[in-house]
Amino acid sequence: MTESISLVDADARALERLQSLVRIPTMSRPESGPGPRADRQPFEQFIAALPTLYPRVHEVLERERLGGPTALGDPDSPGYALLYRWAGVDASGASTPTVLMAHYDVVPADDEGWQHPPFAAELSDDGAVLWGRGTVDDKGSLVAILEAVERLLEQGFQPQHDVLLVFGHDEEVAGTGVRVVVDVLRERGIHPSLVVDEGGAIVRDVFPGLDDDAALIGVTEKGIVTLTLRVEQHGGHASAPPPFAATERLSRAVLRLNAKQAPARLDPVMRRMIRTLGAGARQPLRFVFRHVDVFAPLLLRVLRSRGAETTALLRTTRAVTQLRAGHAANALPEFAEATVNIRIAPWSSVAETVEQVRAAIADDLVSIEVLDPSEPSPVSPAEGPAWNDLVAAIHEHHPGMLVSPYTMMQASDSRHMTAISEHVYRFAPFRLSAEERACLHAKNERIRVRSFLDGIEVYASLLRRR
Ligand SMILES: [Zn+2]
Repeated sequence: MTESISLVDADARALERLQSLVRIPTMSRPESGPGPRADRQPFEQFIAALPTLYPRVHEVLERERLGGPTALGDPDSPGYALLYRWAGVDASGASTPTVLMAHYDVVPADDEGWQHPPFAAELSDDGAVLWGRGTVDDKGSLVAILEAVERLLEQGFQPQHDVLLVFGHDEEVAGTGVRVVVDVLRERGIHPSLVVDEGGAIVRDVFPGLDDDAALIGVTEKGIVTLTLRVEQHGGHASAPPPFAATERLSRAVLRLNAKQAPARLDPVMRRMIRTLGAGARQPLRFVFRHVDVFAPLLLRVLRSRGAETTALLRTTRAVTQLRAGHAANALPEFAEATVNIRIAPWSSVAETVEQVRAAIADDLVSIEVLDPSEPSPVSPAEGPAWNDLVAAIHEHHPGMLVSPYTMMQASDSRHMTAISEHVYRFAPFRLSAEERACLHAKNERIRVRSFLDGIEVYASLLRRR
């Protein structure tokens, strides 16, 4: 990481273009609640900058702005989500395009605690690392995709079937932009044969006994639901409390929830991941991993003790994120409430999750309100032409690398695409260390320049196969 690098011209210009786009502070903000709203101006600036940076893309591909009038609070806006169409040689493939996705909004950041300011897009002294908000999540992908298309156009390449580029503008908040794009595509009878969006990456040190890099491709993502647990009681003076006050009843509910976790399971995706990555592990672990079905009960026990990230792969998780009760130190509260943020395992559902919570709490006086339910995504197959093309593109630049499906724990815009495609994969072709992954949505987000440049090549390889 400290080795200084020298770049060929095309790579140096790609890096400059990424820098110029990272410098536009397209920060997403929630559309309701306290705090500021998103500022539209940087989003306009970003959209306006693209044709200058990528002239061939904008000469050959059609571009539409979608997303509706609610986007960023501007009733007259044509929308901020971008849909590009690159027509294929074979017009009969127009309804089954390849879709490459990314988003250009970023999580808000101020200078506090950053080693380089978040929107300065500064390089490290040796030129090997680019610092800034969005360098990885997700302008790195967006720029690498555009670079790949621009280069292919320069070489006179045209894909066999249509290629669509979908760039969301509010992934970090509501994801409304891509939802509108999906509605439009559905109306046009589009049924993508392959969708690639952010999610997995090329990582290391994520699997016991494995010292090599591995490419993890998200084939599904967990569902999400927020529950409000609520207990009501008559208010009154705190000098005469009832025997089991609302606060106490709610506390008991929270503790019961914690004591009765959702069941853990090694689902088919997890088994496939263990078998694939286990093939590269040291003995004797390799033997155990390769025979995952035989050793499943043992593995489940071992994995359950391996910390929060691993445990989260095995089950539906529940986090009690907020507690509310009371208005005065000397008055009985009229209610007590807890907010529970739940990430639903792919084999479960919102309904089953709510039932499990109800059963764990086992108290009719605790009401449960269900907010913003989103079911887990269907599982895309880790086989077949679409999967194989993605794996081949990775192998072209990283020969012999282990490539495995996995379950993504965060939600991305691509979940909306599952409504119109059975082949949705979450993967950005960048090498990301554990430390770099920890900087996503946090301070000091950065990408290794070499990793970004390799990513361009992987996207280009993938497009050459479509
Ligand atoms: Zn993202």
